[in-house]
Amino acid sequence: MPASGEWFSPTELTFSSIHVRAKTDWVHLSLGDGSGTSGQGEITSTQLDREVSPVVARLANRLRGQRLTDDSDVLAFNNLSPEQLEEDQNLATAVSGLRCAVADALAQRAQLPLADYLRALHDHEGTPERSVQLYSNINRSMLPDDSGPVDRSPDAFAEMVQRAMEAGFTTAKCAPFDEAQAPFKSSGLPREAEAGLERVRAAKAVVGPDRKLLVDCHSRFDLDSALALEPELREAGAGWYEEPVNPITHTDDLRKIRDKSELPIAGAEHGYGVALFTKLMEEDALDIVMPDVKFCGGPVEAYLIGRELEARWERSVSMHCPSGPLSLLASAHATAAFGNKIPLEHAVYEVEWRHEVMEPFEQVENGYLLIPEGYGLGGRVDPVAIAMRGRTWTE
Ligand SMILES: [Mg+2]
Repeated sequence: MPASGEWFSPTELTFSSIHVRAKTDWVHLSLGDGSGTSGQGEITSTQLDREVSPVVARLANRLRGQRLTDDSDVLAFNNLSPEQLEEDQNLATAVSGLRCAVADALAQRAQLPLADYLRALHDHEGTPERSVQLYSNINRSMLPDDSGPVDRSPDAFAEMVQRAMEAGFTTAKCAPFDEAQAPFKSSGLPREAEAGLERVRAAKAVVGPDRKLLVDCHSRFDLDSALALEPELREAGAGWYEEPVNPITHTDDLRKIRDKSELPIAGAEHGYGVALFTKLMEEDALDIVMPDVKFCGGPVEAYLIGRELEARWERSVSMHCPSGPLSLLASAHATAAFGNKIPLEHAVYEVEWRHEVMEPFEQVENGYLLIPEGYGLGGRVDPVAIAMRGRTWTE
């Protein structure tokens, strides 16, 4: 069956959230046609003061009853340009969630798994892999839980990384510098970075020389401190240097850092659209871009970013995915479709019941996500999990 030519006409919109821990809830939308087809998308926001669901409702209202044949119809029916979405992350999150839900529904109509649908749409030959290699990001497990702050000692970082290595992951990531924030009192290596470097050394001792430890800096440094930190991180055995500064707002600084760095520079998790990621690569700001399916435009846009950039710069795309299992599944389809060279991010050990949120259960084995059988995403957020741990609403 051809992938194009299918259509989906949404008439129903519902939201659900699941409480994860402390400040984190996973938020989802479901778009239905009233006669059995529905698509889902995750709209968990990192901007805690901004609600995405009213924006989704406003955009979805323009889609009601229309015959959608392409996920980009979400932009067309709302007269939105990629430039507007580059500048407004709340809007980009709403659009990405809707585009994901529409692509999920259209792939179901085409009777194809989403990864196969993406390839069929773009005349990309071959069958995508049904499992995707992941790397383990321990960051979320080191943030406060419902009882308060957790142990963030170097030993605690090492123990969590050990758990991931024993589960079969060959790459781990941590964010050890959250106590630091530029500007710093003195020039050179800031004292506030020392505690983070201790955590990196402890974690690397567990990871060993043959496996990788990636380091995310959450944009907590400036040009001077980032230049001083790079050789220390290299010495400590880091495998990449993620966002010492924000790649999108501080592109010039990041280019200077990359110029002097031996470690590969990764980032741009808040970016929207293939044009922006291409520009960051052409401007030599990054070695590896990290599109997030929840912000970058959804799985179709993520596929386009992966396909275009990997063709020009090998090993340049690694999808960012610190959120719930629905966005991991959407990311896995995009990643499998473009044929990733770098593993996909997976936020491990945030809550022990994570896999139960999905129907069928999320399956991670030996560091790989197994994509479930079925059309579209092949999985959905389980209403039972929502009833137990969250709520549903309409806007
Ligand atoms: Mg990051």
